[in-house]
Amino acid sequence: MSADGTRGLGMSRTTFEMKHGLERTPHACPTCTFVDEGVRNHIDALFYERAVDVSTRETIRAARGFCRHHARLVSRHADALGTALILRDVLINDLRDVDAGMYDRPAAKPGQFARFFEAKSGLRPRTQCPLCVVEADIEILATDNLLEGLGDAEFAASFRSSDSLCIPHFRLAFERCQNQDAWKIVLETERAMMGRITQELEELARKYDYRSHEKPHGAEAGAWRRALNLTSKEIDE
Ligand SMILES: [Zn+2]
Ligand SMILES: [Zn+2]
Repeated sequence: MSADGTRGLGMSRTTFEMKHGLERTPHACPTCTFVDEGVRNHIDALFYERAVDVSTRETIRAARGFCRHHARLVSRHADALGTALILRDVLINDLRDVDAGMYDRPAAKPGQFARFFEAKSGLRPRTQCPLCVVEADIEILATDNLLEGLGDAEFAASFRSSDSLCIPHFRLAFERCQNQDAWKIVLETERAMMGRITQELEELARKYDYRSHEKPHGAEAGAWRRALNLTSKEIDE
């Protein structure tokens, strides 16, 4: 129970799922874990159930497909027929633009090319990747529920014994947090984890030093990968 007594309403479903995530994979950022699952579920729904939905297709067309990260996720998790139907739409649209002359360049004499480029620099920008939009919403949902969950003693204990948040989600939590007690728990846990990984990285670098006869083993051997996961969102490889 937090000092300001805001708890006692029971745990939301999202908070409950995040608590399970923390207990199941204490070394992964709980927000990343929840977001990954949420985005995958969304991809399933999008490609299995909404493959023919008109407004969904329109949104994906305007974005001209997905960003690289989400295209990779789609490639791993989506259904071949759903993907084929949606991407055929995207390509028909692109082909129409090519046929309409959107990418034509008038013949230019040498030296005029740069000026032509400046004059015509504005292709209509792609709208944001629709899965990035979904992901941003789920990140906020997860962060708010995590912060709320920290008012529960058991949830807070699970969080404290985890490897805390990746830095992008730590920063998002900072922006969203409105409760001093919750923030204190996040900050302490994050600082401890940052210190731990920094030490492991130093140890790793020391052992890789050409003068060293020791070889990295134990916790520090994987520290470079943990540092990548920490500074980016968890890498789903
Ligand atoms: Zn994260
Ligand atoms: Zn994306």
